[in-house]
Amino acid sequence: MFDSMSYQKLIQELKPYQATLVAVSKKKPVTDIELALTEGQHIFGENYVQELCEKQPQLPQNIEWHFIGHLQSNKVKFIVPFVHTIQTIDSVKLLSEVDKMAGKHQRKVEVLLQVYIATEETKFGFDTNEILKLFDNGFPSLQNIRVAGLMGMASNTENTSQIRAEFKSLKNLFDKIKPGLDRTVKPVLSMGMTSDYKIALDEGSTMIRIGSALFGSR
Ligand SMILES: *Cc1c(COP(=O)(O)O)cnc(C)c1O
Repeated sequence: MFDSMSYQKLIQELKPYQATLVAVSKKKPVTDIELALTEGQHIFGENYVQELCEKQPQLPQNIEWHFIGHLQSNKVKFIVPFVHTIQTIDSVKLLSEVDKMAGKHQRKVEVLLQVYIATEETKFGFDTNEILKLFDNGFPSLQNIRVAGLMGMASNTENTSQIRAEFKSLKNLFDKIKPGLDRTVKPVLSMGMTSDYKIALDEGSTMIRIGSALFGSR
């Protein structure tokens, strides 16, 4: 259930940072999203293609949808017609597929490159050197996507100094590649979830992705 009080508190907390809030509504019903809309939230994050494709037609068309789950190339076509940002680009192949499909639908899709900053083996993404290489000679020109920035997830640990170090390294990389980002959109550094968003904001996040603090546990 969407919690209006927690939402308003979080909005106030974010103000000094001018960071964007993505409300992560995965596994939550459309009624929860409708409640959040009445509070003024209009950016939502979803992890699963099928779930997103089921919810999207039931909700207002002006919602800014962010895809934040692992995305397979063969599923890109289902979300490209309406998605605003794909935050989880983890290969050049996926990038080209999004470009191709966006072209087909005559749309521009914003993308974030997912960077692997955690120590766990289970998280997807490019590593730091791959990102640097991609931007080495200017980012490869693709017609239908706008590369807005980077996204990363810290390790799932209680060790806050480790989390901080991981966010620091992502911010550092972000600063290096920033000149190569698409100039027509605001640069985005998407880091921070319910358990670690305070550290992320402290380390320069411009976008946090919050689920359970707003909608309850899943
Ligand atoms: C689920 C998810 C979130 C939100 O997680 P909470 O801990 O519920 O805030 C953020 N980012 C990604 C990539 C997720 O998969």
